[in-house]
Amino acid sequence: MFEQTPPTLGNQYSDDLLLRSYLARVLPPDVLRDLEESLVEMGRLAGSELYELQLADRLNEPTLTQWDAWGNRIDKIELTPLWRLAERIASENGVVATAYEQKHGSLSRVHQCALAYLFTPSTDIYSCPLAMTDGAARTLLGSGNQALIDRAVPHLITRDPKEFWTAGQWMTELTGGSDVGLTETIAKEESGVFRLYGRKWFTSAISSQMALTLARPEGNPPGGRGLALFYLETRDELGRPQNIQINRLKDKLGTRKVPTAELTLDGTPAQFVKAATDGVRNIAPLLNITRLWNGISAVSLMRRGLALSFDYAHKRFAFGAPLSEKPLHRDTLATLLAETAAAFQLAFYVAELTGRSETREISDDDALLLRVLTPVMKLTTGKQAVMVASEVLETFGGAGYVEDTGLPVLLRDSQVLPIWEGTTNVLALDTLRALQSGDNDLKRGLARFESAVMSCVEDAAGANPIARSALDHAANWLNEAMRAGQPALEAGARRFSLTLGRIMEFALLVKHAKWSKEHEHDERAAAAARRFAASGIDLIGEYDDQDVNALL
Ligand SMILES: Cc1cc2nc3c(=O)[nH]c(=O)nc-3n(C[C@H](O)[C@H](O)[C@H](O)COP(=O)(O)OP(=O)(O)OC[C@H]3O[C@@H](n4cnc5c(N)ncnc54)[C@H](O)[C@@H]3O)c2cc1C
Repeated sequence: MFEQTPPTLGNQYSDDLLLRSYLARVLPPDVLRDLEESLVEMGRLAGSELYELQLADRLNEPTLTQWDAWGNRIDKIELTPLWRLAERIASENGVVATAYEQKHGSLSRVHQCALAYLFTPSTDIYSCPLAMTDGAARTLLGSGNQALIDRAVPHLITRDPKEFWTAGQWMTELTGGSDVGLTETIAKEESGVFRLYGRKWFTSAISSQMALTLARPEGNPPGGRGLALFYLETRDELGRPQNIQINRLKDKLGTRKVPTAELTLDGTPAQFVKAATDGVRNIAPLLNITRLWNGISAVSLMRRGLALSFDYAHKRFAFGAPLSEKPLHRDTLATLLAETAAAFQLAFYVAELTGRSETREISDDDALLLRVLTPVMKLTTGKQAVMVASEVLETFGGAGYVEDTGLPVLLRDSQVLPIWEGTTNVLALDTLRALQSGDNDLKRGLARFESAVMSCVEDAAGANPIARSALDHAANWLNEAMRAGQPALEAGARRFSLTLGRIMEFALLVKHAKWSKEHEHDERAAAAARRFAASGIDLIGEYDDQDVNALL
């Protein structure tokens, strides 16, 4: 009787040529030597213990117990075995801490993102609490609030699992996650302490010890400016919820290991992080970090899907040969690999810039570039992750659709990436704001973006005209839309931002290809760049706004 050999994983660092080639380019050899052991270890865990537990833990989900046997409200969250192990491994291996220890200066952010990239696909989105923990540490450190820094940051960035805290980020309310200026939660000052009253509609990783959240101090004006950023601890010293009721856990399409809750805050004590106003602006450092994590998670899930798919292609036979020898299957995989390689270069480039910003080694020009690329990278890689996950499932045929292969979760978990931390449309509009940050001139931001692209492709004869033509089309669209007015700018913002994302991915691939050819005698990155370009970079197209009215 026929038996199908299932796909397996090896050491997820040693097997990952994309990651290893990239690190060899951006890290000085002594730095790579110094940190490689940590990556080999994380690659081993991700391909063995964590992956085995992930498969075994498949049907487990976090639970909420609201009452104890004696009628006391306890709102206890029980995590699954995979998440409990993930928490320990994450803290011990410094998946957050590495970025703050800064052993290798700004490159520590790249190191940390490489750890996160290896860790994420085997831990069912434990990246979610880690991203918020990282973002909270960065926000507190930048706040100047020394009391809160001393109280919370050592817990957020420790390697000791017993001391380790995770952080929540409670922004979304029933009124909206995009338009958070509509936040209804009120902060009342009672006997010298601020207490929060309101409902939070999506609060992920509700098992966390602290949260950063938005509320409107009584008497403040409406809108985002009238909100303040607050710090709170979820439980008191006896482990009781601090006037927080967990109403229920969300029943979600994916991210099912993440306990995402609906909350009522009924007098929760909280403190200002920075000021009594400007909460939306003051929470931005957290969002920059969680958006970086989103991009790293996107490429890590794409890579996991392909690792399994490549392995399976050698083990599955059809029409007299393994799939790995079928020209059309090979062509399909090559396209997915090129898309993944492109997304990878952009996500890690944003990690490089973030690292330089954190160590204050970034020029004004590159700070502007980072401001533009953060939303562009998040929205572009989020969409790519869903597309690649969907195609990966198809490369397994029916097995890709069957739950106990552990494959469908790749698609369900990827689908959250374009939604949380800012949807594609919301980030496309943010890209327009980012381009004009500083001086209200959209074209200055675009000029900086153009020069970054052209510096990657300047001496690449084949690539230069491809990038130039897409850039010109983007610039022409921007000029025309600015002339036509705000509705035209908004209507085309998604196609424009995705095009910027794909242009930058292409340029970075070309840059890497040049290096890889010279130093590794490897043609793969060049092939990825060509294939990625053939898949289409310019998504601006020629759209008639009148058609929207005709259609809707
Ligand atoms: C699994 C999961 C976990 C989450 N965890 C958290 C969490 O821990 N903390 C937290 O704060 N939030 C969390 N969220 C919420 C998430 O951030 C929001 O769902 C998201 O920001 C969108 O907000 P919304 O759901 O209110 O949609 P809306 O804001 O109502 O948006 C609906 C649609 O309208 C579009 N849209 C909105 N404004 C515009 C515009 N101006 N122009 C064009 N299109 C527009 C959006 O792109 C979207 O497609 C989580 C969500 C999920 C799914």
